Amino acid sequence: MKKNKHYTIPVFIPFAGCEFRCVFCDQNKITAIRKPPPVEEVESILRMHLSTIPRENTSIEVGFFGGTFTALPYDIQEKYLKTAEGYIVKGQADGIRLSTRPDRINQSVLDLLRKYSVKTIELGAQSLNDEVLRLSGRGHTSAYTVKASEMILRNGFRLGLQFMPGLPGDKREYCIDAARLAVSIGAHDARIYPAVVIDGTPLADEYRTGKYHPISLEDAVEWTADMADILEAGGVNIIKIGLHVSEDLVEGAAVVTGPFHPQFREMVYTELWRRKLAGIKGDKTRGIKIYIKTSEINYAAGFKGMNRKMLEERFRSVGFAEDTNLNGREFHADYD
Ligand code: SF4
Repeated sequence: MKKNKHYTIPVFIPFAGCEFRCVFCDQNKITAIRKPPPVEEVESILRMHLSTIPRENTSIEVGFFGGTFTALPYDIQEKYLKTAEGYIVKGQADGIRLSTRPDRINQSVLDLLRKYSVKTIELGAQSLNDEVLRLSGRGHTSAYTVKASEMILRNGFRLGLQFMPGLPGDKREYCIDAARLAVSIGAHDARIYPAVVIDGTPLADEYRTGKYHPISLEDAVEWTADMADILEAGGVNIIKIGLHVSEDLVEGAAVVTGPFHPQFREMVYTELWRRKLAGIKGDKTRGIKIYIKTSEINYAAGFKGMNRKMLEERFRSVGFAEDTNLNGREFHADYD
């Protein structure tokens, strides 16, 4: 039976297994966690989260994020995985997901992950342009991402790809190409986090010396909307848009500059709806009522009502109403 709600319990392992310090990354600040939890602590993190999640009709995954999981010594990986798997055996969780680097995937690591009920492997692709990867200090090329993705899929895992538009040297067309490649590879999930400058990172130094200029919030919204459009059309499930909001980011202590906004996802969905609604021919003598799937109404009206305002300039009145028969961004309109 398909479960209606999905939860991922995040277990952050900041920088664990990372041999490179990518120029944009300070996992301690991004996750607001200072060091990888000892294996024993994972147990209490899981218990704490599970006590707050209703089990009925809910699918629960344990997610190891924030480091290079598959570069950890095998015995540590096994200990983390065994702990999480214990909850799957007890029926309290359904699967494990983890994030890692594309150049740390090989057959023996995949065999280990399969043994412990890992369902989804997310690769920090960040970009699929080699110059952007080089300037970002990633230490691998896009060919690694393609090869690792194919291996992951061949071995029966779900594949997630994480992208970071706006890294050094990035361009809108590179992001569009990356989204198209992700679709052709057959990725199941994607996350898109536009690059922001976090204090204490090499990127912050590059920004301060004028070597790096982050993209504007407007560009980040447009580039991300381009990617989301392609990914959605290609059947890729977008599980996250915009950075994880931890306390550091909320307080603004860690972000030096860049296209960070707490409502970034809403802004991207607003842009996608704006593109759809922009084609409606206006008539100031008439009112328009637009019918939309319930969960899309706020996005269609737009962040701060932007799309509503756009239409109000063209019509005497503008209304939005639900039509439960519609899917995705389908809509139809009535005029009076
Ligand atoms: S981006 Fe990923 S691989 Fe790079 S330093 Fe951060 S956690 Fe490690």
